[in-house]
Amino acid sequence: MLKSKTYQFWFCTGSQDLYGDVCLAHVAEHSQKIVEALNASGNLPYEVVWKPTLITNELIRKTLNEANTDETCAGVITWMHTFSPAKSWILGLQEYRKPLLHFHTQFNREIPYDTIDMDFMNENQAAHGDREYGHIFSRLGMERKVIMGYWEDADVQKKIGSWMRTAVGVIESSHIRVMRIADNMRNVAVTEGDKVEAQIKFGWEIDAYPVNEIAAEVEAVSKGDIDALVEEYYDKYEILLEGRDEKEFREHVAVQAGIEIGFERFLEAKNYQAIVTHFGDLGSLKQLPGLAIQRLMEKGYGFAGEGDWKTAAMVRLMKIMTQGMKDAKGTSFMEDYTYNLVPGKEGILQAHMLEVCPTVADGKISIKEQPLSMGDREDPARLVFTSKTGPAVATSLIDLGDRFRLIINDVDCKKVEKPMPKLPVATAFWTPQPNLQTGAEAWILAGGAHHTAFSYDLTSEQMGDWAACMGIEAVYIDKDTTIRQFKSELLWNSVAYRK
Ligand code: MN
Repeated sequence: MLKSKTYQFWFCTGSQDLYGDVCLAHVAEHSQKIVEALNASGNLPYEVVWKPTLITNELIRKTLNEANTDETCAGVITWMHTFSPAKSWILGLQEYRKPLLHFHTQFNREIPYDTIDMDFMNENQAAHGDREYGHIFSRLGMERKVIMGYWEDADVQKKIGSWMRTAVGVIESSHIRVMRIADNMRNVAVTEGDKVEAQIKFGWEIDAYPVNEIAAEVEAVSKGDIDALVEEYYDKYEILLEGRDEKEFREHVAVQAGIEIGFERFLEAKNYQAIVTHFGDLGSLKQLPGLAIQRLMEKGYGFAGEGDWKTAAMVRLMKIMTQGMKDAKGTSFMEDYTYNLVPGKEGILQAHMLEVCPTVADGKISIKEQPLSMGDREDPARLVFTSKTGPAVATSLIDLGDRFRLIINDVDCKKVEKPMPKLPVATAFWTPQPNLQTGAEAWILAGGAHHTAFSYDLTSEQMGDWAACMGIEAVYIDKDTTIRQFKSELLWNSVAYRK
């Protein structure tokens, strides 16, 4: 499900013919070596493709337009080996529509003190040419990423790799389709938003279907298919009967198996990659989708509860941005529930009624059944687990009426001190940066939601770069946040983003 295209990135080197053919031959050779080294490094999630040196307005324009229409190209990496007069780039850049990385590097690491002459200086002048090139982006007001450093260094290569994931998020954003089988929860403000504006800004298609259409697909699932999936669940997960009748327990689990199969068929048939539900709007479904939705999230679908399509789309987006990552720790929908305010142990217990993605689980996963205490359906089966520790990022996309704002919080995930045997949901526990008090104060001042799209595998830089490419406001709550500075930033942004 999560698979998307095998994207590539084009590597375009800028130069000019002022210094002769020998120089241009060196430029081409050097940039090919850099591309080979980047691809061999193991630090990039996607392949880099070398392109012939760009030296004229016509070729720059042609190449960048080819990048626009090439479906496998997710972005262009540019580097000015020599001097490439930036007026030559204006038309091409104005027509270019994909993410762009300005890689500010140099072929040689060290100044060759004993042999350096003017020919060498003319040939190796990225320090000079990349400034001319960078100027025209600033003049055009164009979004681009700038990464400076030596191309052989692993930390520099990893920065390029990290940007590639953002670029794929930008390209794939316009392929996200969210299915709403329920409207926004009554009277709730923060999960609402302008769906037309979301399509204009992010490319998301957000459509409603009557819940009973998907329920009919669930009812059409054969007993054989359900039984086979229930067997898989019973093999894979620990069963926590906790005194419940074994037969009834299995029947409830089978309802979730039917929902998983029926929902996935319906989403696939109609080409949606994210879905929202609402515990109060279940039509003929027998249970709130719990285990079923958790499994679909694990397969790569975006999800959020109570009709929250913004968060569902963000969960899908963040899953795409992390795809294929070695040792990924997981990406999920989350909700801020309750605090621990004991000094030195402060943090926020995260969960949802049922729907936390098993990709974030640490250790064993169990199936439990309990009354929902909301709504009027059967006690739903759900997967229960605790989550991994370590740094992560929590995001909330809100609609302020005149614009979207992405709130990005660095958080530190921890274990709770004791097990919570009576809590029948999967949980995480985190302390927001810079600490619970400032982090929560800043989050609330920014208008952030109780729902978040959360990942261990992405950074605030990647999320902020994505927001910048989308042309929306992003605010960071991290180790450097102070309330005074943060309030000023919100005030300045309200002016900067005024329509
Ligand atoms: Mn919720």
